[in-house]
Amino acid sequence: MNIVKDAKRIVFKIGSSTLTYDNGRLNLHRMEKLVRVLSDLKNGGREIVLVSSGAVSAGRAKIGMTDHKATVDEKRALAAVGQAELMGVYERFFSDYGHTVAQILMTKDTFDNAVSRENVENTFRTLLEMGCVPIVNENDSVSYDGVKFGGNDTLSAYVACVSGADVLINLSDVDGLYTADPRKDPNATRIDTVSDVKEVMALGGGVGSDRGTGGMATKLKAAGIVTQAAIPMFIINGADPEVIYELIEGRHVGTYFAAEPKQ
Ligand code: GLU
Repeated sequence: MNIVKDAKRIVFKIGSSTLTYDNGRLNLHRMEKLVRVLSDLKNGGREIVLVSSGAVSAGRAKIGMTDHKATVDEKRALAAVGQAELMGVYERFFSDYGHTVAQILMTKDTFDNAVSRENVENTFRTLLEMGCVPIVNENDSVSYDGVKFGGNDTLSAYVACVSGADVLINLSDVDGLYTADPRKDPNATRIDTVSDVKEVMALGGGVGSDRGTGGMATKLKAAGIVTQAAIPMFIINGADPEVIYELIEGRHVGTYFAAEPKQ
């Protein structure tokens, strides 16, 4: 069995450092490539959900706030600016390929509250039935520390669960999980398959780049959430979105986290 080839519903997560240049502006070339691949997968009969970061980073670049670290209030405002830009770009690229996008913004409250969790589950189901591509981000403009997901890696795990995904694919700025931090240790090697996330938790290390909030630790946490819910996950390098085709062909790229059996 080929997990990705056989998957009907796939949740993709892409992080800010993969979506934006070092100056924070959107990497349109990469975004367009990603949209082309996702549109192609949809044309082939799959359902796609995209969890996309990049709002704060794009907002900061658009406003031109490069002189200081944003305060919490400023970040909320930057997210509002950047989210509009982000969706504008996705909307344009996806409609070029004949697909309709839908924006879903949520906070952790959305999942903690049984009513809103059911509502969002129904929204995902209905949007997918309508043939749309839901594009999800945390509602950073209203969320506060107590209800933060701790980044979109975690959000993508919740989204995979409520949208009934067959697989979660995390498009990262690294090639997968390594035996040590590959940026520091030249002897680090990529781990092909993880059958028990608990055994590799210690490899999480610290946070990633200064544009996103995720590092390996949050990706492993996400892997723990989805694999427990019987959903497998991959971490692959999103620098060239065409690598998704390699996964479909069954090539060993990235790191595969095997799902626990359904309870
Ligand atoms: N929601 C944040 C944004 O769109 C990103 C959070 C993260 O990097 O995980 O900027």
